[in-house]
Amino acid sequence: MSYPNSETHEHSPRIETLLILGASGDLTGRLLLPGLASLLAEGKGTDITLVGAGSDDWTAEQWRSRLKESFSAAHDTAQNAADDAGERALARIQTTSEYVRIDVTEPGALAKLLGSLQGPIAIYFALPPAISQKACSVLKASDLPAGTRLVLEKPFGSGQESAHALNETLASLVPEHQIHRVDHFLGKSTVLNILGLRFANRLLEPLWNNNHIEKVEIVFDEALTLEDRARYYDTAGALRDMIQSHLLEVMALIAIDPPTSISERDLRDQIGAVLRATAIDGAPAKSSRRARYTAGTIGACDVPNYVDEAGIDAARQTETLAEVQVAVSSWRWAGVPFILRSGKALGAARKEALITFKPVPHLPAGLTGVDTPTRLRIGFGPDTLQLEIDVNGPGDVFTLNRTTLSADLHASRLSPYGEVLDGVLSGDPLLSVRSDTAEECWRIVEPVLKAWKNNEVPLEEYPAGSDGPSGWPS
Ligand code: NDP
Repeated sequence: MSYPNSETHEHSPRIETLLILGASGDLTGRLLLPGLASLLAEGKGTDITLVGAGSDDWTAEQWRSRLKESFSAAHDTAQNAADDAGERALARIQTTSEYVRIDVTEPGALAKLLGSLQGPIAIYFALPPAISQKACSVLKASDLPAGTRLVLEKPFGSGQESAHALNETLASLVPEHQIHRVDHFLGKSTVLNILGLRFANRLLEPLWNNNHIEKVEIVFDEALTLEDRARYYDTAGALRDMIQSHLLEVMALIAIDPPTSISERDLRDQIGAVLRATAIDGAPAKSSRRARYTAGTIGACDVPNYVDEAGIDAARQTETLAEVQVAVSSWRWAGVPFILRSGKALGAARKEALITFKPVPHLPAGLTGVDTPTRLRIGFGPDTLQLEIDVNGPGDVFTLNRTTLSADLHASRLSPYGEVLDGVLSGDPLLSVRSDTAEECWRIVEPVLKAWKNNEVPLEEYPAGSDGPSGWPS
């Protein structure tokens, strides 16, 4: 995508080296390298040098064979062939990219590595969050090469206070526009389509307020279970993993006032403003629910009880399904509940924003059959748009019928991580989370985390493969 009116990226120096810390990790193999392949295939970033680093004792050959594997997986799923420059870059990188063994928490080790690389450098911290924080603290003692960009994954800190401390550390290293806090949902084409849908159509914006909208639900339910990520997930849970970051960002795009431009300053100012006005809707004990899956079946697969999975500590009471209701205190949204929900091991995946409109103020006598309000569904995978309306139906023309106007939206040729890396390499932080937003997202969910820690909200259970505990969605 192009980034109009960006304040910084046109003058940002070209990144020469992309250094991925955590080269042997899950994120790097499954998402980052395929994202890089999709970017290169578009002919972007084709002259970069890629360096992988990590604590594993890998040889360059092991790293290159990982590159080959991830690049060819991306190639197999690409909708279009790579352009010539892209093909050449893919071939060059997977035969020449170097691997460096490093403990990034060791004082001086990372600074020494940076000194040996061609700058400007983008450092991608694909590391466990605590290790990323430590690596950034250790870097405080050194001068970074000019133009260094820092790319931090979620979760950004573990609460408002630690996010603030991490922001201060990062600010002491490089200016804000050289910091990319990744939320790859902001790279999803359907999520970005919310902007076009809302602000390029006369039809919706006049109705986009509390006069016409009853409620907004943002749901990301998956059939996927732990996928060998117990070490991370059991300390995070559904609220921190999904709602605190991704779903609040989606909510913000649905709730923002029209920005003057889609630029890093104007768009992110609006996101910051709407999140500052957002809070849990009343007492957390009433506005949140949590649950954990037990043994069940998904499709033909038996799923063990969450607490019996390797690496899980049942005493942590980690939720695999979370729901919170938030309110936005503004003229536009006063009184409209925003319900955010996400869970794992559910019978059916449901990934969408559902906007429910208020009933018509008056239905003329003689028109019958209406029992459902107008609803707009924005699907996040598959990427779809559906408008559910009532029209005169077949048979008795005055008996109304439900009709759905549907469209499949074209996904961007770049994967979400391709979009993320495009922003990093071009020096445009438009799609990255600004420092204030990273802290606000924690501020919003912290009352719920506290209430859960104090057991003010029961941890319910649901069998894997079900729709969740009975009575959900609430
Ligand atoms: P993994 O645990 O799979 O990988 C972490 C990597 O960091 C490993 O390569 C590990 O090497 C390396 N590492 C750990 N300690 C050090 C150290 N001291 N010095 C150098 N390297 C070190 O984690 P993920 O890839 O899953 O996650 C990475 C980040 O991405 C996290 O912040 C996560 O929240 C985020 N994320 C992950 C997603 C995913 O689907 N995996 C999705 C979205 C975000 P070794 O194995 O040798 O210890």
